[in-house]
Amino acid sequence: QGMSTAFIGLGAMGYPMAGHLARAFDTLVWNRTPARAQAHAAEFGSAAHELSSLAHADVIFSCLPTSGEVWEVLRALDGQLEPGSVWVDCTSGHPQAAREQAAWLAERGVHFLDAPVSGGTNGAEAGTLTVMVGGDAAVLERVRPRLAFAGKVVHVGPTGAGFAVKAVNNALLAVNLWAAGEGLAALKAGGVDLGAALDVINASSGRSNASENLIGQRVLSREFPATFALGLLAKDVGIALDVVAAHKGAAPLLGSAGGLYRAAERVIGGSEDHTAALKLVEQMNDV
Ligand code: NAD
Repeated sequence: QGMSTAFIGLGAMGYPMAGHLARAFDTLVWNRTPARAQAHAAEFGSAAHELSSLAHADVIFSCLPTSGEVWEVLRALDGQLEPGSVWVDCTSGHPQAAREQAAWLAERGVHFLDAPVSGGTNGAEAGTLTVMVGGDAAVLERVRPRLAFAGKVVHVGPTGAGFAVKAVNNALLAVNLWAAGEGLAALKAGGVDLGAALDVINASSGRSNASENLIGQRVLSREFPATFALGLLAKDVGIALDVVAAHKGAAPLLGSAGGLYRAAERVIGGSEDHTAALKLVEQMNDV
C-alpha cells in the first residue's frame, strides 16, 4: 500500500488539481483518454497507469462529471481496493450516491469522503480551491495534508453534506447568473449601455460573483470560454432540487432555475460554458 496518492479524472478541474498533488507527493493518475494522463505525467511528473494499479494507493481522489461515473470506476476497482485506504470524491456528486458509495466502500474496509470543490479552473490552477467535506472528521484529518490543491477546507457534516452544500452553492450561482442576465436584457432593450449598468451594479447591492466576474469577462465580451460546462451546472441545480425534495422543502425559485437551466442545456448545448445560458435569456428577450 505505502504512501501513494492516486487521482482519477484529469478533466478541466482534475488535471490541475492532480498537478498540485504530483508536485508534493508520489502520485499515480488515470484518465479515460490516456493521452491526457500521459500529458500530465510529462508536465507534472505524475505516473500514468492502468486504472487497476491505482487501487493500491492509500488515498484515491476522483473528479468525474457525476456520481454515475464514480460508480463505474468503483465497480471497475471492486476487489482491488486496500482496506484502510480513503476514497476522496471531488466530483460535485449526489448526496444519496455518497451515502450508498460510502456504505459500499465500508463493506470493503475503505473510507469515503465527499469533498467537492469550489473556485473554478483558476482556483484549481492556483491551488486555492475551497473544499467542503462530508464524512468522518477523523478521516478528514488523516487526508488533510494530502489536499495540496486546497486554499480552504471546511468539514460541513456527515457523508453527503459536502455534496449538498456544493449543490446549493451552485444553485445560487445559477440563480444569480440568470437574474443578472434578465436584468441586463431589460436594460439593453431600454437602450442603456450595459458596461455602464454593470459598473453601477458592481458598486451597488445587486452585485454577485456573476455580475463581478462572469458577466463582464464572459458574456459582454462574447467569449464564453468553456471552463465549466452548462450541463454540469444544470446537473448541480437538479441535485439541489433533490436536496430540497428529500426534506419536502419549498424552493419555488430554485425550481424555476431547474427548468430554465435544463432548457438552456437543450437549446444552447450542455458542453458550452455555463455563462452561455444567458444566450437563451437574450433569445427570449430579442436582444
Ligand atoms: P470535465 O468534463 O472537464 O472532466 C471530466 C472528467 O471525467 C474527464 O477527465 C473525463 O475523461 C472523465 N470521465 C467522464 N466520463 C467518464 C467515465 N465514464 N469513466 C471515467 N472517466 C470519465 O469536468 P470538470 O469541469 O473537470 O468537472 C468535474 C467535476 O467537478 C464535475 O462534477 C463538476 O461539476 C465539478 N466542478 C467543476 C468546476 C469547473 O469550474 N469546471 C468547478 C467546481 C466543480
